[in-house]
Amino acid sequence: MADVVPDDDGWPSEADPAAEGAEPLWPAAVAVVDVDFGSGWMDGVEFDYGRLRPPARERSPYQGGGFSIELPAVLDLLELIAKGQVNPRTAREALRDAAEGIYLPFTNMQFEHDRNMMARCERDQVSCPLCERRRGWFEGLLDAKDDWWERYNQPEVYPFIAGSGTVHTVACSVTRRVLPNQYERPSGDDYGLELRRYAHCVDASSGRSPLDHDSRYPRWKPLNAPETRAWMEANTGPKGGRLYKLCGHCEPAL
Ligand SMILES: [Zn+2]
Ligand SMILES: [Zn+2]
Repeated sequence: MADVVPDDDGWPSEADPAAEGAEPLWPAAVAVVDVDFGSGWMDGVEFDYGRLRPPARERSPYQGGGFSIELPAVLDLLELIAKGQVNPRTAREALRDAAEGIYLPFTNMQFEHDRNMMARCERDQVSCPLCERRRGWFEGLLDAKDDWWERYNQPEVYPFIAGSGTVHTVACSVTRRVLPNQYERPSGDDYGLELRRYAHCVDASSGRSPLDHDSRYPRWKPLNAPETRAWMEANTGPKGGRLYKLCGHCEPAL
């Protein structure tokens, strides 16, 4: 059987507990667009990007995801459609085209913002709003790492790892390759560097960050036998189909 290295399923990737996703870090970007409906123009329609993301209608920016439009323009547009002055399909395409046309400038602006924030942080991290805002989140992850490292050091109590749909023993050579031999919670200068690396790069909605694939950190949560069996049960389909594998290399006995 091929060696299967668990991916980062073990990392506690969670949305920011401070619900940052609900309150964008960057001020929403507004664009004023003259929309061409074929049969005429609607001038000065205000769009913004990044403020509203309804979970019921998640889609790509090219399909309108992340954009919103002022209500008076929508009401006027519906009125024009009701009077037969604008074809509804044309209206749909015109709005989508307008969103597509302004997507790139918005993302460029955000990229500029990210770079400026990093430069600012390198000059003065103590007052960096991003590091300050995400420090608690980072601390929570370090707490989890401490807990996992403690578990790694009690292999007789926590002998298993479950990640990427495969159960391993903690001693498995496949998983050892991507685990540290020693771990210490970052402190001093290292702490500031790691906080910056995390705070400026983490994805606020998923919790993914560059630290996920860093083998200086414990990467999965070691589990005891009942926890592993609960994980296996949670990963068994309704008809008893297994959604996981037992590693053929270390052959965990469960
Ligand atoms: Zn910072
Ligand atoms: Zn294994």
